[in-house]
Amino acid sequence: MIKIKWFGHAAFSVNIDGKIFYVDPWIKNPLNPSKEIPEEAPDYIIVTHDHGDHLGETIDIMKKHNKTKLISIYEIASYVAEQIKAEERVIGANIGGPIDLGDGYKVILTVAHHSSGRGNATGTVFGREGKYVYHAGDTGLTYDMKIIGELYKPIVALIPIGGHFTMGPMEAAYATQMINPKYVIPMHYKTFPIIAGSPEEFKKYLDELKVKVELIILKPGEEVKLEV
Ligand SMILES: [Zn+2]
Repeated sequence: MIKIKWFGHAAFSVNIDGKIFYVDPWIKNPLNPSKEIPEEAPDYIIVTHDHGDHLGETIDIMKKHNKTKLISIYEIASYVAEQIKAEERVIGANIGGPIDLGDGYKVILTVAHHSSGRGNATGTVFGREGKYVYHAGDTGLTYDMKIIGELYKPIVALIPIGGHFTMGPMEAAYATQMINPKYVIPMHYKTFPIIAGSPEEFKKYLDELKVKVELIILKPGEEVKLEV
C-alpha cells in the first residue's frame, strides 16, 4: 500500500507499507490549507536541497517528533545535526549510493540539475522492491531519469512542472516518458506566479507524446491511496 499526501509545492508525506517518509516538508507554503506542524510522526524526512522552500519546517518537525530521522546529502545532514544537537538522528549520504534502512527499505539520492547552498541538489528514490517512489526534487530535464526508471522501476513519480527554476510541463512530460512510472503526480507549480506551469498543459504534452501513465492531480492537503 502506498498513501501519498501533498502539502503543496514539493512537500509530500508518503506512507509505504506503514513506513512514513516526508519529502521537502515546507508545511507553511502558501498553498497548504493547514500551516500546523503535523501530528503524524514521520520515520524519515528526505530533503533534496537546502533552499527554504524545500528544507522548509524540517527542523521544527524533528524537534516535535524526536524519533524522526533526516536523510539528505552530507552537508545538509551536518547542518541539521548541529541545529537539533543530535548527530544520531541524521543520515548524511551522497548521490547514487543506496542507503539501507532495513526491512528491505532503501533510499537513493539521485542527480538533480539545480543549485543548493549546502552540498549538491538531489532528487530521491525511496521505498522497497516494487514500491519505489521517485521525487525528482528541483531539476531540469536529465537523461539520468531514464536510468532511474530502468533501474528502480518507480511506481510513482513526483515531478516538478512549474518552469523557470525547474522543468516546465513539456520537459516534465518528456521526463515522465523516460521514467515510465505507473502514476505521475505533478508538483512545484503555482505556489508563486512565476512558476506558472499547469497540470492541464502537462496533460496536453503527456497526450501529445502518448505517454502511458495515470496522471493524478492532487489538491494541496489532499491524500491518495494507491493499491500497488
Ligand atoms: Zn524549489
